[in-house]
Amino acid sequence: MKTRMIAVATLIALTSACAQKAPTTSAPQAAAQIDDARLANAASEPQNWLAHGGTQLAQRYSGLDQITPDNIAQLKPTWSLDFDTNRGQEATPIVVDGVIYVTTAWSKVYAADAKTGKLLWQYDPKVNGPNAAKNCCDVVNRGAAVYQGKVFVGTFDGRLIALDAATGKPLWSTATFDPESMQAISGAPRVGAGLVFIGNSGGEFGGRGFVSAYKADTGELAWRFYTTPGDPAKPDGAASDKVMAEKVQATWFGKHNEYRGGGNVWNSIVFDPEFDQVYLATGNGYPWARTFRSEGKGDNLFIDSVVALDAKTGEYRWHYQETPGDIWDYDSVADMILADLPLGGAAPRKVLMHTPKNGFFYVLDRKSGELLSAEPYIAGITWAKGVDKKTGRPIENPLARFDERKMPVVVSPGEGGGHSWNPTAFSPKTGLMYLQATDHSSARHIPRPSFEYVKGLDNIGVYHFATHGPAEPEPKPDPTRPKPVPYLLAWDPVANKAAWKTPGMGSAVMATAGGLVFQGHSRNAVMGELSAYRADTGEKVWSHETPNAIAGGVVSYAVDGEQYILATTGAGGGLILAATPDVRERQPGRLVAFKLNGTAKLPSDPPPAGPVKISTESFADTTVAQGKDLYLNRCARCHGLGTHSPNIIPDLRRSNALLDASLWKSIVEDGLLQSTGMIAWKSYLPVGGAEAIRAYVAMTTKAEATPVKTP
Ligand code: CA
Repeated sequence: MKTRMIAVATLIALTSACAQKAPTTSAPQAAAQIDDARLANAASEPQNWLAHGGTQLAQRYSGLDQITPDNIAQLKPTWSLDFDTNRGQEATPIVVDGVIYVTTAWSKVYAADAKTGKLLWQYDPKVNGPNAAKNCCDVVNRGAAVYQGKVFVGTFDGRLIALDAATGKPLWSTATFDPESMQAISGAPRVGAGLVFIGNSGGEFGGRGFVSAYKADTGELAWRFYTTPGDPAKPDGAASDKVMAEKVQATWFGKHNEYRGGGNVWNSIVFDPEFDQVYLATGNGYPWARTFRSEGKGDNLFIDSVVALDAKTGEYRWHYQETPGDIWDYDSVADMILADLPLGGAAPRKVLMHTPKNGFFYVLDRKSGELLSAEPYIAGITWAKGVDKKTGRPIENPLARFDERKMPVVVSPGEGGGHSWNPTAFSPKTGLMYLQATDHSSARHIPRPSFEYVKGLDNIGVYHFATHGPAEPEPKPDPTRPKPVPYLLAWDPVANKAAWKTPGMGSAVMATAGGLVFQGHSRNAVMGELSAYRADTGEKVWSHETPNAIAGGVVSYAVDGEQYILATTGAGGGLILAATPDVRERQPGRLVAFKLNGTAKLPSDPPPAGPVKISTESFADTTVAQGKDLYLNRCARCHGLGTHSPNIIPDLRRSNALLDASLWKSIVEDGLLQSTGMIAWKSYLPVGGAEAIRAYVAMTTKAEATPVKTP
């Protein structure tokens, strides 16, 4: 669609910025002078964390070895820096020559002194609030890219902005998609070959996936590659046109073009200078149900795939599809990690490793895309028995196709996956890959009988948060359904087996040359902990509580000969839906830095949230039932299942508006709080719908607060 090719860069004071005198602030004079040669040799300067994944291999491995299992007991906080937003945080910081560049919720950018945490500058792109409703999981941002003296950020409402790394002043800004489309940017840009690569999300909202490359110096569009097809009669005028016609269109059926397809690249992009390639990790198809998306047939390229492109032209080189014809939300967006592995040949093999939601650990030859191995990294996979090494295709279990079978089916992994987007790491020292994994996660998928695309809603062709369809009785708990088992996994990609597993739930990991693996956790969804494990055995050797949960990246750097461990804290991702009995007041996200013998005291844990509001009103049962259905379909993805929220996005049980019908209506129907992302829902609700939702939340809250009387 040519109308979507909005590529006009708005040049903001580019010439005057070039002519500026050296800034007089304490910011460095020639900030962030990173070119391709420096990026390619990033491992030779372990004091920095130059790229999203540390280096262009994206291994999240620090070559620093000052902090070891022997001295880690002395690892203590040395500073923290509060952000000015209390929403979800998922960023991985970049560290260059003693300066940290990090993004926050609402796509804001902070530069801070890496030794002291002192704020050097901050930039707020003033994201359009209502755009927050175009994503599943809050207004998160996973990080900036730093290159050629500039800091690049993708904003939630779709702009790619270049900032002067020394001052934070914008140099150029370009709309990467039509602001009216159902996309959002939560992922970090990546850089290389003079270009900035940026994708977007939208796979649950009818946003068609694509990645764009912009010239780093001017913001001019260099190329665009769509990951799912448009109208075959109207080529996009994009780098993907040729492969769409030759390979992709034939894998789709029916009116897919109207549904926009999905395949969004919302997390991992890796630039590989060795082969001048850029790899894209793509998300699920839209809608989830293939019967609606593609008449129940076809592989639907390039959903759930790794796609390799010529970095300079965006031309297709190869792809490997991990879940053909996906209906289970098996996004293949996990971090892609590049490495040289000894796989038996004369020389180490140059590989790409990938751990998507579908539960298999893939090792691909990154030059050719050849599948080298694909073994289950978790237990309990039911959608496929394995992967046929000859054809590269999964050996599917036909019973898992709830959609084509038109009946609810429990499938493992569930939509959360064996592993999702949370950062993974690889240590060249141990040869092991480290990631958070979950055995026996499962979902009960319930197909919808019909599908109607409604712009603005996350209609995905299944009853998403419901436990049963409207015509089906509430299912009884199934005692034979295994419980999920989460753990930190060290995987040997040569032997294709686990090296160790340490039980527990966690998020981002980072490995170091000091023989450690660091991982962020949540204590109750809201509060957190940073911990460290021996990289060789998985023994937990250290942990420190943090006021915020940690969903964002953990990195390491050094200043003046001292090694630091840095985490972006502030609950993000799936934590916004995590039910907890210990609901707390909301608190700002923050950077937290540790070093040996640090002496800082972190802020206290946030206090308990105020009491739930008990209504004295009464409502008809039919109104409450209608409200429950609406809540599940419109509200639950942000405000939590069963009305319970950890209060990262407000816990409605505690809202003053719960007891005030007029205030509730102003917020829910008329958009009183739309600058926070709470859009005006009037056009998406039936008459009386907002009041029915209030009835459901109020009556559920009251029932839970009322002690059950025994006769
Ligand atoms: Ca998804």
